Amino acid sequence: MHLNPYGEDAVNLAADLANRRPETPGELADRCRAAGLVLERPVSQEDLDRLGAVLDAWEKVVDATGERERAALANRMLAEAAAYPRLTDHAGGWHLHYRDDGQPLGAVLFSLISVGTALHLAGRGMHRLRRCAVTECDTIFADTSRTGRQRYCSHRCANRDAVRRHRARTAAPSGAATG
Ligand SMILES: [Zn+2]
Ligand SMILES: [Zn+2]
Repeated sequence: MHLNPYGEDAVNLAADLANRRPETPGELADRCRAAGLVLERPVSQEDLDRLGAVLDAWEKVVDATGERERAALANRMLAEAAAYPRLTDHAGGWHLHYRDDGQPLGAVLFSLISVGTALHLAGRGMHRLRRCAVTECDTIFADTSRTGRQRYCSHRCANRDAVRRHRARTAAPSGAATG
């Protein structure tokens, strides 16, 4: 995975891992590979534990109540996670890493998620990271839509909420109208 200027792949990977946290190092390795990460070392339980702490911090960024708070929390992650950027061609094609070479996956994910999220928020908008608007749905998503007004994690949730709002309208007392 190469960090693109909007950090889209990295922030989507963070949301995917947070929404359904991997349970074993093997699962973590598979899901990172599926997302296009080149794994340079075997994945260990320590990587999984590190990821858990990273995602706890990241969910605080998601749940921040305003832009300032969100920026402060993201900056804290960046300060701990990211090293100076450097050019590398380890996976074919020159690109930037915001970390030291030879790091275990937990540390790689920490820097990837921190920098990717910061690029996404700065590039697309500070509000474009949230949980689904359906109350019983906790799913986190990065809003990469054209309008930046995505409210639901999926079409399924959007439909569910539309049906509910329709029912609420038709079930509302209509005494005034029917006289
Ligand atoms: Zn790379
Ligand atoms: Zn949802």
